[in-house]
Amino acid sequence: MTAQILDGAALSKRLRAEFKVRADELALQGHRPGLAVILVGENPASQVYVRNKIKACHEAGMISFDFPFPADVAPAIVLQKIAELNHDPAVHGILVQLPLPPQFDEAEVLAAIRPEKDVDGFHAANVGALMQGDPRFIPCTPYGVMKLLAETGVDLNGKEAVVIGRSNIVGKPMAMLLLHAGCTVTVCHSRTKDLNAHTRRADILVAAIGKPKFVTADMVKPGALVIDVGINRLPAEAGGGLCGDVDFEAVKPIAGAITPVPGGVGPMTIAMLLANTLTSAERFAEGTVK
Ligand code: NDP
Repeated sequence: MTAQILDGAALSKRLRAEFKVRADELALQGHRPGLAVILVGENPASQVYVRNKIKACHEAGMISFDFPFPADVAPAIVLQKIAELNHDPAVHGILVQLPLPPQFDEAEVLAAIRPEKDVDGFHAANVGALMQGDPRFIPCTPYGVMKLLAETGVDLNGKEAVVIGRSNIVGKPMAMLLLHAGCTVTVCHSRTKDLNAHTRRADILVAAIGKPKFVTADMVKPGALVIDVGINRLPAEAGGGLCGDVDFEAVKPIAGAITPVPGGVGPMTIAMLLANTLTSAERFAEGTVK
């Protein structure tokens, strides 16, 4: 048996073409979707992510507003910019690229974004709405994972799902979405005892750890749907390039389906950011949000 490869690059391309049609329709009504992106400092990975997000935005017929700040910027300046963007009618989504430098209180920055424009879904009001099963914006990475799982056609009801990682950005919202989809969910993390005993039970295994090739073949139940969220840059002596949290070549023969890195969850994250921006613009255009 060899796993179905869940091609996030292809699915994302398909979705982005659909988004362009919707964005162009909105533009005809005078509401071209707009995404404001705030990047503080010069973290190379963040710069790449932001560049990719801006490019995808333009290709999907949306406008991006780019706000780079130096690493030593005073938090008050960034908060002031967010306040302006909250009121700017051309901006339907505001994204602050994380992580922020140490002078920032991340929670304070996320709380300053108007929840109706919080397309990352990290504002406490949006986290709460997600938890209650009535989300305003679903965080992009777990949202993308749910789309990839839907591609398998597998009914998630009653399935054992194991998420490795409990971050606010990936692990926790991922667990919540799987729970709402009817899975029995276990969330594992660095304090989990006998991790393999948990992962081997998983019909759906999501790895969001940040450790290259951490998930090995012996941790995977035959036929499991394996989702690799990790993006790790390998050192030059290991050939460079990107690799996930899953040992792809070893797990592929066992899994029922698996996402590659790159080309799996990464492109879906960007697609779902566009989806959220578009949804936000549609709400403003319809007047359901003012
Ligand atoms: P965090 O570092 O915030 O979280 C990592 C999680 O993994 C923590 O909950 C941690 O546990 C857990 N963990 C660490 N070591 C172990 C271990 N030995 N056993 C079990 N659990 C462990 O990372 P993020 O959630 O932000 O990101 C995870 C990965 O996903 C990274 O590689 C990141 O680059 C990637 N990523 C990819 C995206 C995409 O679009 N594909 C988007 C966002 C992130 P504890 O809480 O106990 O410390």
